[in-house]
Amino acid sequence: MRIWGAKDPRGLVVYGPIFWTQAEPSFLNASSTPFQPLVIPRSEHSISRAAISPNALKVLYRLKEAGYQGFLVGGAVRDLLLGITPKDFDVATNALPEEVRRLFRNCRLIGRRFRLAHVHFGNEIIEVATFRAAAAPEREDTEDADPEADVDGGDNAGAAQSDSEHRAFDQTGRILRDNIYGTIEEDVWRRDFAANGLYYSIEDFSIWDFVDGVSDVRARRLKLIGDPETRYREDPVRMLRAVRFAAKLDFAIEPATEAPISKLAYLLDGVPPARLFDECLKLFLSGFGAKAHRRLQQYGLFEHLFPMSAAAFALPPYAYAQEMLERGLINTDERIAADKPVTPTFLFAVVLWSAVLRELNERQAGPAPDLAQLMQACDTVLRAQQSRVAIPRRFAIPMRELLMLQPRFNRRHGIKSLSLLQHPRFRAAFDFLLLRAQVGVADPELAQWWTDIQVLPQEERVALVQARPVEPVMEGDGAAAAPGRRRRRRRRGGASRN
Ligand code: ATP
Ligand code: MG
Repeated sequence: MRIWGAKDPRGLVVYGPIFWTQAEPSFLNASSTPFQPLVIPRSEHSISRAAISPNALKVLYRLKEAGYQGFLVGGAVRDLLLGITPKDFDVATNALPEEVRRLFRNCRLIGRRFRLAHVHFGNEIIEVATFRAAAAPEREDTEDADPEADVDGGDNAGAAQSDSEHRAFDQTGRILRDNIYGTIEEDVWRRDFAANGLYYSIEDFSIWDFVDGVSDVRARRLKLIGDPETRYREDPVRMLRAVRFAAKLDFAIEPATEAPISKLAYLLDGVPPARLFDECLKLFLSGFGAKAHRRLQQYGLFEHLFPMSAAAFALPPYAYAQEMLERGLINTDERIAADKPVTPTFLFAVVLWSAVLRELNERQAGPAPDLAQLMQACDTVLRAQQSRVAIPRRFAIPMRELLMLQPRFNRRHGIKSLSLLQHPRFRAAFDFLLLRAQVGVADPELAQWWTDIQVLPQEERVALVQARPVEPVMEGDGAAAAPGRRRRRRRRGGASRN
């Protein structure tokens, strides 16, 4: 029996239940006896099949009829225990990916090293994962390809295999390769938090708890399975997952799980930027972004995701940008709560704005920057950012457009200024202007003017813009955007009023 993270009396490295729920782990007595989970019968837990996606149930029953084990796992079990509707329903089984595919017509296998079966039902995808033997990153689609990996890992699910043959670590302890299929007893140790390590059996509707996860869910606590530092080193994204679940579920991070995060935050630098992009969306665009951001700052994780923004936040002229991000995230959370659409474009514009302005103000020569320089600053920041959090072009390009429109709000004279209202990014750019006004870097009068003009009939709009004096585009924005310049402008404004 291989058990997580302990040495057994014979000196073998074994991997075992750190949070053992029984008096004595079985591996201490008889290494051949598989350890038993705490099985919570249907009568003693609150999960009803009526709360489970019918498609997930279909998958589970089909697996069972074909003679395989089928369990609902992970976040779905946790959320159902909490009375929350799960975001998705993941299934774990002892059927191999190919065997799962044979059972479902609407099934596709994804991943090169870790094959997962996706069973498609219209918009809903039920992810079916074969039990695996070791702690492994959940997804590999954004990880470096490993052409030598044995795709299927082995065709005997449940067979004991040598870890060292199949698992490779880099110098920081990150798992590079892991492709063994195993039993449920092995699968559980590769899960991240005990609260995420619960299995709901389709056989008799019981919950199998190897890691005291039910107690953690009840206590609203996040505790990593195994030694926290080792688990973060294997997969640093678990630090972001800790923040995400704490923010989403209002769970406390147990002290031993929380303690190493600040020290190990730098490990995020080695995570593929595409994977960090996915995690950023989950952190910031799931309805609890403001809380997640505070935690990311608290643990020093934010600066490893957005180093240029973090550096700008620390400088007095751009300190407002952190409040702007906070407010932007609160708005986003409110939009999600109201079922309104949100976009990564706006989010990344808010995150990177201070970095762009700093680049513009500190690196560009000349008394007042022009639009071409703003564009250059956007590109410089975006290029550097890609090495940490890779923002796909389909978001990066509209993000740049949104930022480039900011100076155009300063131009309110002449018919041409009205074309801004027709611009496809007007709405997002206008929301961004409102945010800048809220934190005092754009003129509130300007924000109000663009608010009002939207509801006027065309003739009145025309009359309004024809009556306005000529105003410089870029100087106003430079002034409004960087507080240093704003002060100068305010003084001028004040003098003319007197
Ligand atoms: P959500 O509510 O966001 O779906 P979740 O807990 O279901 O939360 P998923 O990312 O869907 O999270 O992953 C499903 C399960 O797979 C997790 O509950 C956990 O058991 C396991 N898992 C996912 N990612 C990791 C990881 N990086 N390390 C260890 N286990 C993981
Ligand atoms: Mg999930």
